[in-house]
Amino acid sequence: MNKKALNEMKLSFPSLSENERFARAAVGAFMSQKNPRVDELNDVKTAVSEAVTNCIVHAYRDSVGLIEITARLTSEGIYIKIRDRGCGIEDVKRAMEPLFTTLPDEERSGLGFSVMESLCDSVSVKSLPGSGTAVILTKRLRTKL
Ligand code: ATP
Ligand code: MG
Repeated sequence: MNKKALNEMKLSFPSLSENERFARAAVGAFMSQKNPRVDELNDVKTAVSEAVTNCIVHAYRDSVGLIEITARLTSEGIYIKIRDRGCGIEDVKRAMEPLFTTLPDEERSGLGFSVMESLCDSVSVKSLPGSGTAVILTKRLRTKL
């Protein structure tokens, strides 16, 4: 377990669309032990669901591959890494711009990263074309009084 972690979990599942809801619920259940506020819980679940959806629709487009999630609770909040070994992102800075999408014809609005950024305290993306992408989300949590 990571030194700073109070608790940690790892999940690995195939990039099937039904696993978007599974990932959202699983991270929510893990986080619940910290008694988060409902808005904080919903923010994290929505951010995870955006990142996992990106793995399903972009990273493993026309194929199925593994998605790995690592989540850690620390004294400050939550850390979540969502990792795929799919196609990777050519230009991360551009991909993170609001409204940028490589799938405009498939009802994608290019707002996934913007949503993650608005709901989390930090979003960091590491990607290598051909090798995959890791999205790291962090959020401070206030426990309920
Ligand atoms: P929306 O999320 O609004 O449905 P979108 O997925 O295109 O649309 P973002 O989530 O902001 O928008 O992602 C922007 C772009 O970054 C995507 O169009 C895609 O090209 C690229 N991208 C994002 N995540 C991944 C990933 N895990 N692997 C490969 N490419 C990705
Ligand atoms: Mg998206």
